[in-house]
Amino acid sequence: MTLPPNVYDAEPIPAAARAEIDKMLETGDLFRYTAPENAPVTLLEREFAQMMGSKYALAISSCSAALFLSLKALDLPRDARVLIPAFTFAAVPSSVIHADCIPVLCEVGDNYRIDINDFELKLDDSISAVIISHMRGHTSDMDEIMALCHARGVPVIEDAAHSLGTTWNGRNIGTIGRVGCFSFQSYKLVNAGEGGIMITNDPDLVARAVIMSGAYEHNWTKHFTAPDPNLDAAFAKTQNKLPLYNLRLSNLSAAIIRPQLAEVPRRMHDGRRNHDYVAARLNSSPWLEVPEKLEKEDRAPDSIQFNLVGMNEDETRAFADAAAARGVKVQIFGLSTDNARAFWNWLFIPGDVPELPQTRAMLMKACDTRLPARLKTAELDVIADAITDAAAEIMTPARAYGT
Ligand SMILES: *Cc1c(COP(=O)(O)O)cnc(C)c1O
Repeated sequence: MTLPPNVYDAEPIPAAARAEIDKMLETGDLFRYTAPENAPVTLLEREFAQMMGSKYALAISSCSAALFLSLKALDLPRDARVLIPAFTFAAVPSSVIHADCIPVLCEVGDNYRIDINDFELKLDDSISAVIISHMRGHTSDMDEIMALCHARGVPVIEDAAHSLGTTWNGRNIGTIGRVGCFSFQSYKLVNAGEGGIMITNDPDLVARAVIMSGAYEHNWTKHFTAPDPNLDAAFAKTQNKLPLYNLRLSNLSAAIIRPQLAEVPRRMHDGRRNHDYVAARLNSSPWLEVPEKLEKEDRAPDSIQFNLVGMNEDETRAFADAAAARGVKVQIFGLSTDNARAFWNWLFIPGDVPELPQTRAMLMKACDTRLPARLKTAELDVIADAITDAAAEIMTPARAYGT
């Protein structure tokens, strides 16, 4: 019998990382600016930019740091208002607060994507920047969003923390806005424990971000080796003008990340196969619904989200307990205590908790289950059985036996 899999374990790090790490342990060369050139962090930046089709990449300590640096690099005035989706991880409003800006929340629909009508309504003259968070890899309508933001000259930061490998109309997510931010935290597609990277084609933005990330003195000369007069001009403009936040990545993390980049297509493919397999099984239950993706999106999921249909709050809680009793943890975003993805728990935002009835209703029925790419069909069946059986147990009236 197949047991419920441990969905929290990561895949082993490719063996190729070991030789590089052993060399570092010998030399102690862990700081990105010690070597005169080609430090592992610099090589990672070059490889990642190339893989994504971007001009520049800056590897740093986390995706949260990348979001913060992106806002700082846009040089927004204090108290600038930044529009973000109301369904995202607490790191997103946190980055806005760190950057001395004010988060403004817009509604998210039952399909976990930005409600374009509310987005358009909230994108008024008071908004200076937008962060689009592709939460759990779900891509909002980037054509509509870019058209609305372009018309108003509002820069878009893409929080693609969990979207490595996802494409929109054939374009890599993270390359559509002015800047794209990714995470290498352990629950993302590429795992270094911690780490992040930002990509952009904007030389001024990247120069500012490089300096603030901790490229003191002339260490920025070690970032990009190809001749680039735009970049030289941008660095000349910013030298000694910006504070340092020291959010650098260590060579050790880069050595763990680099050999995993080659694994991305396989993890993408297997993740999508696993997701679609379980989605079809869940959709066969009358009490479960996996929303359709948008047509232009091709996904790279490592988890599955689904909505409960026709369950009240007690039944919803009983369903989660019944799934747990079968060995499968289902998190309901709005019901678990102090959940970092429920906007009413972001009490660090100034002012009262905003009213977002549509997002709130979604969070009270939206379920989250991890589904790592390494799972095999028998394990996927255990998960799908547990979830569909739990729903049936709660929602099927007890049969009356006898007469
Ligand atoms: C994980 C995640 C983050 C934060 O990434 P860190 O690297 O842990 O800072 C931000 N946004 C989303 C959507 C995420 O999934």
